Amino acid sequence: MSTNQIAVITGATSGIGLGMARAFAAAGFHLAINGFAAPGEAESLAQTLEKEHRIRVRYQPADLADPQQCTALIKDAEQQFGRIDVLINNAGIQYVAPTEQFPPDRWDAILAVCLSAAFHTTRAALPGMQQRGQGRIINIASAHGLVASIHKSAYVAAKHGIVGLTKVVALENAGRGITCNAICPGFVLTPLVQKQIDDRAAQTHVSVEQASRDFLCEKQPSGVFTKVEDIAALALFLCSAAATNITGACLPIDGAWTAQ
Ligand code: NAD
Repeated sequence: MSTNQIAVITGATSGIGLGMARAFAAAGFHLAINGFAAPGEAESLAQTLEKEHRIRVRYQPADLADPQQCTALIKDAEQQFGRIDVLINNAGIQYVAPTEQFPPDRWDAILAVCLSAAFHTTRAALPGMQQRGQGRIINIASAHGLVASIHKSAYVAAKHGIVGLTKVVALENAGRGITCNAICPGFVLTPLVQKQIDDRAAQTHVSVEQASRDFLCEKQPSGVFTKVEDIAALALFLCSAAATNITGACLPIDGAWTAQ
């Protein structure tokens, strides 16, 4: 795997983003990582990755619900490292409620973080990539970018939206050394999904283990959670020379969820 490249990973302080930060660091990428964290926690993660892998890691605490901070995140990475080779739009949030009860402020927040942030970071990163004729943009969408579930109006709308954005960016940059793809995971056991399992266990008066099994059984025929490490491996593959002609693709990693 290529070393000395620069990757920006949003939402890298937890779950899938954290797994990708670890995998890209191990592959020798220098990193600009972003995401919310307790005071000192992200800085300490950055230091650990730097020491373990002899790379540079910059933590930038931008709130991606704010378009200006999305742009600032990209500008900061370009200033610190001189360029961006890989942009991974991963940060995301969830809220679950029937549409008629869905709080408008949760709708706005989910659309801002799961969709608009990727537009703002991509818009800011593209000119540099186009100038160098080289770049990889990876959007972490979801099985919910391809199919729907009840009570997730904002999330499903945002994830379908990011699949559309992925295709447009891929088309506009085809043949220019820049690829843009979406990874569409099924259920991955991260804090974002654990909360939904815990809520379900409480609502249906079953154990967390049973709620977890029910959760998978309902959607993911393989019956197992997708692993963070496997998503990171797919993202790394999309950055390899072998993936040069994979662009505009939406790649499910979902245990056959969307095959149904
Ligand atoms: P997570 O809750 O573990 O991590 C989310 C990350 O996003 C955290 O680092 C958090 O700080 C960051 N974040 C949230 N709001 C932010 C904001 N306003 N500004 C900056 N950072 C912000 O969640 P996860 O499960 O690792 O999810 C990562 C991505 O994968 C999301 O886009 C999610 O929709 C997607 N996804 C997750 C699953 C799953 O089953 N966990 C499945 C499909 C897709």
